[in-house]
Amino acid sequence: MTATSLTTDASRTFVVADLGGTTLRVGRVAAGAGSAEAVRRMPTEGIGRYPGLTARTLQDRVVDQLTRELVSYLGSSGGEGASAVGVSFAGPMTKDGTVLAGPTLWGSATPPLPITNMLTRRLGVPVVVANDITAAAWRYASAETDPFCLITISSGIGHKVFRNGEVLISDAGHGGEIGHWRVDPAADALPCECGGRGHLGAMASGRGVLLAARRAAAGDPRSFGLSALADTAGGDPARITNEDVARAVRADDPFATGVLRACMVPLAQAVNCVFTAIGVRRYLFIGGFAVAVGHRFVTLLGDELTRLGCFGLGDEEIRAMLSLGAEDDDHCLIGMARMLDRTLPALVNIGGGA
Ligand SMILES: [Zn+2]
Repeated sequence: MTATSLTTDASRTFVVADLGGTTLRVGRVAAGAGSAEAVRRMPTEGIGRYPGLTARTLQDRVVDQLTRELVSYLGSSGGEGASAVGVSFAGPMTKDGTVLAGPTLWGSATPPLPITNMLTRRLGVPVVVANDITAAAWRYASAETDPFCLITISSGIGHKVFRNGEVLISDAGHGGEIGHWRVDPAADALPCECGGRGHLGAMASGRGVLLAARRAAAGDPRSFGLSALADTAGGDPARITNEDVARAVRADDPFATGVLRACMVPLAQAVNCVFTAIGVRRYLFIGGFAVAVGHRFVTLLGDELTRLGCFGLGDEEIRAMLSLGAEDDDHCLIGMARMLDRTLPALVNIGGGA
């Protein structure tokens, strides 16, 4: 048995929410369980739905929606008897649970938001709010015995390093943002959704690969014409989708594979840097685009990483560092419950004054 299962009280259940830029999900997870139950999904009332509203208005709207949905869930049969509430949040946070930014939720900068205190006051149960990738990393905390780095590849890129029972970031919330590491210093490098340029997340994410595929198709019509992508996109580079790229790479299409290979270079450099800096030898990839490409994603990344070399490791050892995570989309809900299960006793001590 692992240390986690020894401390798990299976009778405890948690209400967990995953607040993302597109979707808010609320569900229930029993302590130690590997799946979420009675999950409700709804569109997030943020900048994606109401792009014309100010950041402050959107922030109020999103927090009101989250509070309302949690109150409703706690009052329903699904939330009855829950020991605590956990929320995973798509943005940087301080250790004490203050939100620093919510670019995909309300866009531009707003003052720090003490969301954990706000929710604790309004819900009347212990609440933990954590960054979404931190929550996702907790999902793997009990199964992974060695330090690991979780990297999510979807519309953007995020990561967290987990070691000795904690996610390695500063108390002020810095770290775990390799997607915003500048890998292309050129002044006209690709813009990132954060407003910067040349960031890893602009180049090696699902969005970055799609852009690269469309550019390559427009720049080399002959190769594109011979590609499976030309069939699915009707010969129009602008109609290529991420699903098309993933399918074509899985089928070993030379054009699509070449595009993805080029995009893997800065990602391999990022893995190389984390390994060289702190010696982590386990890299788990999750997120819609990585999962859609599947094992080919890890193989192509391994090709680039062995080409670069990792100081002190042989090729087989380098490839063995890379794996895909679970294919479902419940990382944040399950991970949040595991995090609550491990951190809640400490919270109860503080709150109980015993
Ligand atoms: Zn960025």
